[in-house]
Amino acid sequence: MTIVRADYVMRMNEGFEIVSDGAVAFEERIRAVGPVNAVRDEYPDAEFVDAGENSVLLPGLVNPHVHLEFSANTTKLAYGDFITWLKSVIRHRESLSGACKEICMKKVLDGMLRSGTTTIGTVSSYGLDMKPCVHSKMRVVYFNEVLGSNPAMVDALYTDFLGRLEESKSWASEGFVPAISVHSPYSTHPVLAKKALEIAREEGMVVSTHFMESQAEREWLDHGTGDFAAFFEEFMPGTRPVNDPLAFLKLFEGVPTLFTHAVHATDDELKLMQEIGAITHCPVSNRLLGNGRLPIEHVKRLTIGTDGLSSNISLSLWDEMRAALMMHVYGPLDLLARRLLVAATREGARALERNSGEIELFRDADLIAVTLPDGVERTEDLPLQLLLHAKEAKLVYVGGEAV
Ligand SMILES: [Zn+2]
Repeated sequence: MTIVRADYVMRMNEGFEIVSDGAVAFEERIRAVGPVNAVRDEYPDAEFVDAGENSVLLPGLVNPHVHLEFSANTTKLAYGDFITWLKSVIRHRESLSGACKEICMKKVLDGMLRSGTTTIGTVSSYGLDMKPCVHSKMRVVYFNEVLGSNPAMVDALYTDFLGRLEESKSWASEGFVPAISVHSPYSTHPVLAKKALEIAREEGMVVSTHFMESQAEREWLDHGTGDFAAFFEEFMPGTRPVNDPLAFLKLFEGVPTLFTHAVHATDDELKLMQEIGAITHCPVSNRLLGNGRLPIEHVKRLTIGTDGLSSNISLSLWDEMRAALMMHVYGPLDLLARRLLVAATREGARALERNSGEIELFRDADLIAVTLPDGVERTEDLPLQLLLHAKEAKLVYVGGEAV
């Protein structure tokens, strides 16, 4: 048994409870939480760790949407417009995915862990990131991606996807959870999507998909026009949209799904997505690719992700939350800070069906301690100040083990 004390324990529970001079006792799971003296009285023999002055103990962060295979990108890809970016990804795909191999990806994963992220949902296009994810101390929900709109290619693409999925299943453990990603409605043939989703349904897997990221996607799927029409004319002449947006969403009914971006979704689509699962907001990616702002004031089940380094400069959720804080200018600032912290912990864990994300009895002891540069005058200022100043975690526990 370990007890960690901190100046503040931010539980991230329904009531957004913050315990001053608090402590958490845990083994693999959380066994007690409350004022430090009460917790020490309950477990007098536990190993005692003090997180120190100006410390905040909170659940480990959950980043449900990242792509590790493009981690080599820094300056190569073109930003500002979605289709321009997509073309640059196609031009550099081979060189970028080959440039960040296992040691490089391990470094990327370790960096995320140091920042305080204890669980990720990562979308894998080729399976190149499987080994580093299997061996990471972080918990990984590993989304094997299926993609391809050309009907003639469906069988070959499905076979390739099945191969990667089976391999990931052979590595399944507490910390490595095989899952499925259907790339998007503009890129994935419904036959392929249905077959993959059937597996998810049968095997109880979580699913991730991109939906209505750009205005170009909206126009293409609604009318077969716009920048995507020109794009497909160049790469696959004669292509027509393969999915109707609402019909595509209905394919996911009954499968816990994370819908990423949704910037250009209609109210009906937002409603349906949140009946099925949750929305993942990637503010930096949306800004860099010229896609606009997700109206989070219309989203209830909000999670926050970094997307990959192909459309970001950082995989730290602290950086991502700070970006979101600057992007969403409506409503009280302190409430937005709280909302983003909940999205990055409890809501992310819930969407990925993990037993973490809040400091409650019997939840997994995935915990981090962060040190603020100074004290706060009022406890209610803590969420915003934490979000503004946090960079690295001082302590990180995954399943009760210090990492
Ligand atoms: Zn993505």
